[in-house]
Amino acid sequence: MKTIFSPQIYSIEDIPNKPFIDADEIRCFLEESQNPSREQINTVIQKSISKQRLSLQETAILLNANDSESIELIKEAAKKLKRDVYGNRIVIFAPLYVGNKCINDCSYCGFSCKNNEAIRKTLTDNELVKETTALLDSGHKRTILVYGEHPDYSAQFIADNVRKVYGVKKGNGEIRRININAAPFDIDGFRIIKESGIGTFQVFQESYDATVYDVYHRSGLKKDFNYRLTAMDRAMEAGIDDVGLGALFGLGDWKFDVLGLLRHTNHLEACFGVGPHTISFPRIKEASNVSNLSLQELSDDDFLRMIAILRLAVPYTGLILTAREPEEIRKEILTYGVSQIDGGTNIEIGGYSKENVATGQFKINDDRSLSDVIDELIEGDYLPSFCTACYRKGRTGEHFMEFSVPGFIKRYCTPNAMFTLAEYLEDYGSESTKEKGYKLIEHNINKMPLENQQKLREDVDSIKSGKRDILI
Ligand code: SAM
Ligand code: SF4
Repeated sequence: MKTIFSPQIYSIEDIPNKPFIDADEIRCFLEESQNPSREQINTVIQKSISKQRLSLQETAILLNANDSESIELIKEAAKKLKRDVYGNRIVIFAPLYVGNKCINDCSYCGFSCKNNEAIRKTLTDNELVKETTALLDSGHKRTILVYGEHPDYSAQFIADNVRKVYGVKKGNGEIRRININAAPFDIDGFRIIKESGIGTFQVFQESYDATVYDVYHRSGLKKDFNYRLTAMDRAMEAGIDDVGLGALFGLGDWKFDVLGLLRHTNHLEACFGVGPHTISFPRIKEASNVSNLSLQELSDDDFLRMIAILRLAVPYTGLILTAREPEEIRKEILTYGVSQIDGGTNIEIGGYSKENVATGQFKINDDRSLSDVIDELIEGDYLPSFCTACYRKGRTGEHFMEFSVPGFIKRYCTPNAMFTLAEYLEDYGSESTKEKGYKLIEHNINKMPLENQQKLREDVDSIKSGKRDILI
């Protein structure tokens, strides 16, 4: 096993498939770093903008920096780090909800088995093709298939869905990367899914505090905190080296859960030499038949601050922001270091093709079309990217971590973002999007090393003449 970052010493040793969260230890890190001095805060910020991973203790210092001036310093540092590490590219995807049957009773979720009002549905093969086609028609190249937890959604079922979706082609449209958000599997199950050619497998821990977790997960397989906690270990053992972590903000103390995400990251690094590919941070939203939850809601201000801190704590991990959040918040968060967003999102089962639509999981707050999202990104000087090159070139897991440094972004991500944006402009862009999109591409080519510019222009021209899927 190769360890990339120097391991930290914790009260619980990191062993694959063994639970690793010590809640008292996390609380102690938070307690010991109360009222940090400006000097302590600055030292931690300096470390992170020199692109070094932060320890839990250092992150706790940022989490406890409560005065507005310190919060501003943290946000500014996150903006700088985002620019230095990720440049201006934003990867675009769309979720595709396949089925909302569920055996669990998660008290915050519209798919809970206790929600008798929900219309339950699982897409047939035919419907899955229609949903995929609708995504292709809007210009998507990356999707994440989402499922409730149910015996119908076996590993084989998910693997068959993945193959089906990859097989759908229309004109120049095709899905080139499929990620999964579904219940955790055993190692054999993860292996079956891996073989179908998935990118990332996401399992959100929801809360890293077992006591809080127990309150909100009232019955079903998901009630087992430790089985979920070790899910990504089993995924890694099955060969899935791009895994996605997440916590559902609003259930417990947000500061605790940020340290939980970090502890999880360190566990994966210590055991497998690879941290998570992405971290997600959904905030609880209204859902069908969900009421009377006593939540610890995360305010907009704390949410923005939390994402800036996460950016600083894990400079090389992708951060995903979804359409759960409204347009204005999404716009601001982009500056703090989010690297992936969804666009043109619909989370109802059958929602893209608008046929036989069934209950969605929760209410989204940004239902703009993909073209509107792309327009806004371009106008904000962000480079929308539909890139799937790393996974298809085998740059996953450990490899991705080794290369995910600024030079790598310049060498691979920016050119691939420009190529996939040019494809989008040719195949799906309106005249006005095309005009501003190509201006942005030219502007970005001009920022590349002089010796690469000519070849980049030739490649973009070849896309204009019909060539597709140029991968670096
Ligand atoms: N059923 C699987 C599970 O629970 O892991 C897979 C996906 S679930 C459909 C995806 C994620 O949506 C959950 O992990 C949870 O974090 C999030 N979620 C559930 N209810 C939500 C709500 N009311 N608001 C925002 N996010 C929610
Ligand atoms: Fe089912 Fe997942 Fe919703 Fe829980 S969060 S009720 S497991 S779909």
